[in-house]
Amino acid sequence: EEHTQKPHVAMLSSPGVGHVTPLLELAKRLVVDLGFQVSFLAITTDAPPAQLQLLNNNPTLPSDLHVIHLPHVDVSSNDVIAIRIVQIVRESLRSLPSVLTNLHSHKPPLKALIVDPFCIEALETAADHSIPTYLFLTASASFLALTIYFPTLHADVKGDYGKIKESVFLPGCMPLWVDDLLPDVLIPEVLPLCNRIPLVKGIFVNTWEEIEPVTLSAFRNHPFFVNLPTPTIHSIGPLTKDKDADVESELLKWLDKQPCDSVVYVSFGSGGKVTRNAERCGTGTRYGYVSILLSVGLSSYGFKSTVEQVTNSCPDLRSITVIITGVEDRSRDGASVSQALRQTSPPCSEPQSRRRRQGASSLCLAIRIANAPRLGSSDPERGSPVGAAFPVTLGGTLSAEQMMELAHGLELSGKRFLWVARPPRADDASGSFFEAGVDGALTASYLPDGFSERTRGAGLVTATWAPQVAVLSHPSVCGFVTHCGWNSVMESVVHGVVMVAWPLYAEQKMNARALVEMGVAVRPEAGGDGVVGRAEVERVVRMVVEGEEGKEMRRSTREMQRSAVDALGGGGSSSGGLSRLGKEWRDGSTS
Ligand code: UDP
Repeated sequence: EEHTQKPHVAMLSSPGVGHVTPLLELAKRLVVDLGFQVSFLAITTDAPPAQLQLLNNNPTLPSDLHVIHLPHVDVSSNDVIAIRIVQIVRESLRSLPSVLTNLHSHKPPLKALIVDPFCIEALETAADHSIPTYLFLTASASFLALTIYFPTLHADVKGDYGKIKESVFLPGCMPLWVDDLLPDVLIPEVLPLCNRIPLVKGIFVNTWEEIEPVTLSAFRNHPFFVNLPTPTIHSIGPLTKDKDADVESELLKWLDKQPCDSVVYVSFGSGGKVTRNAERCGTGTRYGYVSILLSVGLSSYGFKSTVEQVTNSCPDLRSITVIITGVEDRSRDGASVSQALRQTSPPCSEPQSRRRRQGASSLCLAIRIANAPRLGSSDPERGSPVGAAFPVTLGGTLSAEQMMELAHGLELSGKRFLWVARPPRADDASGSFFEAGVDGALTASYLPDGFSERTRGAGLVTATWAPQVAVLSHPSVCGFVTHCGWNSVMESVVHGVVMVAWPLYAEQKMNARALVEMGVAVRPEAGGDGVVGRAEVERVVRMVVEGEEGKEMRRSTREMQRSAVDALGGGGSSSGGLSRLGKEWRDGSTS
């Protein structure tokens, strides 16, 4: 009974770990701190395995947080990730009216719908149901300012962004370099989303006063923002994941053995851009195989949708080799996967072989796509004859050449490192990894010869999913080579870890520039060919671990870390907004 009395809020997230994670953190706070019940609507199309892991059977989710998966949709592929997400969300929202009607018939009426920017087109449907929509921007305030300003900028240059000279001058904010925004950020496809921002009832942004004082002050004071019908903007961050208390990981055991403040953590984000990677697999499809590496604890649903996405975007594909990592429990060796395979379209065969090395926690399945022509004498179990491996868990990916330079640079630095080295996206990764189990041999196929042997003891390389928050909060870790995804940035600052800013796509370049200006990161310089050379890698890694500049950056980072704690504490700038709003929703004074 008490359950039905709790005020009810819905949240809607676009696909991707970087979007789901902060929305889920907000949901947890609404449930745990403010006593709400939350229906969390998740988009399953393009959902990477790690997203499904977060949402399904996640023991850290409180019982009043209910996850509802929206049905899978078909959209044509697009190489710009933001455009693809816009399209997926638009299709997925077709099921929203019935989901909202259904929710209303079972539970107390919704007080609010909270969406990330890609989902803002839900606001019309929400209005039809008399539900106010709130926006939660999971990137920086600076990115929010740009998003609000974008329709004005677009009109000014008549859609020709090439006309912008050097910088975009956001009202009252620090100028943004146009080179940091092209080609991924300034795209006309997001205009319909930007145009709707003034229509929402309130905006949350995952940041806090001290990290973006200029922008947050511009929102409050600059006539451009003040005079827009834009609703109040509340900074409620940094909302980051808690460290999972019971996480068991070889990586953490290894970190336990390293001296305090000695290790640099290297990782380029969550990735999971399944179809993009599948599209890139020219060599693989020519020979008829694509090998997919799926990360931990795969659900059969995730498996089915991943297989469908890959098969549908690679019409020539004939078989798939899947390596499922993190399979601890023998009973899960195949039953759920076989069942999922019977439901795929086009249909796949039963796994033709299952291989699991003694004691290993990974399982290798060879699957033939049922209607595809048989390949001459090739044996699916051997994987691709040319060794093309196309992991779907790719983060921002480095080119093979860049990967080599990074490896050499880490080695030259002589410093300790923990590197989440997902395979390069080029076609030259060796396929021999099936023979020798997943991790070691897989990474060996795209790292310099003898790299693991030479760096043994000082470095650890893994190709799987890392418990990033636990890693960053480990006392041995003192630096983070990061692609500057906003969640990674927040996590690094919250744990006082100095960054090497290595942006790859989306709005990461503007994040990187801001971090360097704040004195909490150093950015390596690429050579004329766009590749960061090994000597430069060596320089920046040494800088964060030792030396005066490193110390200075650590001081600034620790200061920022303290301000984050203050912002979230009682009376802090971030904690107040949410509880006020919670009270309003509870008392029913908003509608
Ligand atoms: N992450 C993780 N382990 C990995 C890679 C990523 O836990 O091996 C988490 C990371 O902690 C962060 C999120 O995935 O919370 C990535 O979000 P971010 O905004 O940094 O980058 P994106 O992946 O969205 O580009």
